[in-house]
Amino acid sequence: MKNTTESREAIIVGAGLVGALWAVFLARRGYAVKVFERRSDMRGEGYKGGRSINLAMSERGWCAVEKAGIREKIEQVAIAMPGRMMHSIAGDLTFQAYGKENEAIYSVSRGGLNLALLNIADSFPNVEFFFDYHCVNVDLDHPIIEFEHQKTGERKTFEAPLIFAADGAFSAIRYALQRSNRFNYRQFYLEHGYKELTIPAAAAGKHRMEPGALHIWPRGNFMLIALPNADGSFTCTLFLPFEGEISFEKLDTEAAIEAFFQQYFSDVLALIPTLIQEFQRNPTSSLVTVQCDPWQWQGRILLLGDAAHAIVPFYGQGMNAGFEDCTILDAMCDEMGDDWSAIIPAFARKRVQDGNAIAELAQRNFIEMRDLVGDPKFLLRKKITADLFAKFPADFLPVYSMVTFSNIAYHVALQEDDAQNKLFQEILALPNIETEWNGPAVEMVFRNWLAARK
Ligand SMILES: Cc1cc2nc3c(=O)[nH]c(=O)nc-3n(C[C@H](O)[C@H](O)[C@H](O)COP(=O)(O)OP(=O)(O)OC[C@H]3O[C@@H](n4cnc5c(N)ncnc54)[C@H](O)[C@@H]3O)c2cc1C
Repeated sequence: MKNTTESREAIIVGAGLVGALWAVFLARRGYAVKVFERRSDMRGEGYKGGRSINLAMSERGWCAVEKAGIREKIEQVAIAMPGRMMHSIAGDLTFQAYGKENEAIYSVSRGGLNLALLNIADSFPNVEFFFDYHCVNVDLDHPIIEFEHQKTGERKTFEAPLIFAADGAFSAIRYALQRSNRFNYRQFYLEHGYKELTIPAAAAGKHRMEPGALHIWPRGNFMLIALPNADGSFTCTLFLPFEGEISFEKLDTEAAIEAFFQQYFSDVLALIPTLIQEFQRNPTSSLVTVQCDPWQWQGRILLLGDAAHAIVPFYGQGMNAGFEDCTILDAMCDEMGDDWSAIIPAFARKRVQDGNAIAELAQRNFIEMRDLVGDPKFLLRKKITADLFAKFPADFLPVYSMVTFSNIAYHVALQEDDAQNKLFQEILALPNIETEWNGPAVEMVFRNWLAARK
């Protein structure tokens, strides 16, 4: 067995967003990196841009791409979304800023980002990509990984002192760990699924709705969202229960789909000329949360990104959290001097609480987005939150800002969410709060809350 610190070789399984980014970080440290990916090279014949699928990138993601040296490149095609645009059932629009002036989340193309990361990783002479290699087996103790070539069916094994599993929510490496002693694992599906639809660009590549916003159509137990793309289109995602009175299973005819959109999203119906065909053609996908512990094996194998912590997408943090894994791990290498047998267990121990916390926050935000953004009490809470933030910037940071516009650990943000929920229970119960929302009684409750925490 080679000494991990001396040999400076590593395998990464999965060249998705996190695997490709982590390859860049390791390459910069001078590691000889082999990256295995079951799909074909997206830069080759297979990648024609495809459907535009976008992701919301926020501070944690920016921090990581900046460290990787590609911030400017991504910024050129990112669209700032400084707030939410809520669409009521009657078609009224309400804009709600996400943070302070100049704060925004950004819509970036998933394919474009992955491509940029692959290109930069590939520009290092010490990174080697193996596409069409599907990881099928792991012998944890050596460790040896077996791959099957997707086109030839040939099987090959590779050995490396360090293995990083960035192979997504259904990670093959995690599956091997699940069969080991004392590995905790939990996965659960949301009762909702999702379907992606596209609002095409108008003439001359113009957007058909305000591009500087994340659009939300909150409808109680379900919702539609839309993020702008650089080519003038929007990618919409419909989140709806799989089964039940209003559900995907009920939308099984053209008439049912049309009537559903007419009733709940009539403004969107007019914007998607091929709605019915798209609806029937595009898959309905499920939403899984994965939690496990430990994320590592004997200081030599480490799970990263969705392989360690797949979450529901309602805080827009899955990729951001995976990117932050890379930033934190890289910082630990700076501190601990590439001693992986110490770094890997320390990282896994420290980071798992943050993975669990963002999973919980993402679940909570689902309820907020689909249900509460249309609720007057919720809107009032947002107004008071913004007011307290403006008046007491040193003592009060809204949880959304903590998660989205800061690098404060997710587990701290979760504790803060619990604390602020208690604060708002009291504030919203005050008499005449609708009119006295910025009055002395609110300030008194806030000051007492603050004092009790110190
Ligand atoms: C609808 C939706 C919306 C989302 N929106 C956002 C958002 O706005 N913001 C945000 O931050 N996050 C968002 N996410 C989450 C984000 O997509 C994921 O967190 C992110 O893609 C995780 O990156 P990853 O590299 O860990 O995994 P993946 O992106 O899943 O990549 C894993 C890679 O491993 C490869 N692979 C898998 N198995 C094997 C194997 N056995 N052998 C070899 N290779 C393998 C796969 O082909 C893939 O390339 C969203 C997710 C969904 C579902």
